[in-house]
Amino acid sequence: MTINLDASHCPLCQQDNRCDVASPQGCWCSLEKVPNALIQQVPDDKKGQSCICQTCIKKFNLTKEDNFTAL
Ligand SMILES: [Zn+2]
Repeated sequence: MTINLDASHCPLCQQDNRCDVASPQGCWCSLEKVPNALIQQVPDDKKGQSCICQTCIKKFNLTKEDNFTAL
């Protein structure tokens, strides 16, 4: 089995990112605001290659809120 371009996996957690950017109706990721700080966690060679998954975005947002309450 050949691994094609790894666009269907989250660059952060390696899970299926369920990106549908190639489909006619587009992908959830074009509507979702991905935090810049999260994008910066993506290795340079993976940037712009594949979507970060919703789980990682949610996780990041939760962490951020936690930080806010901790302040
Ligand atoms: Zn992920």
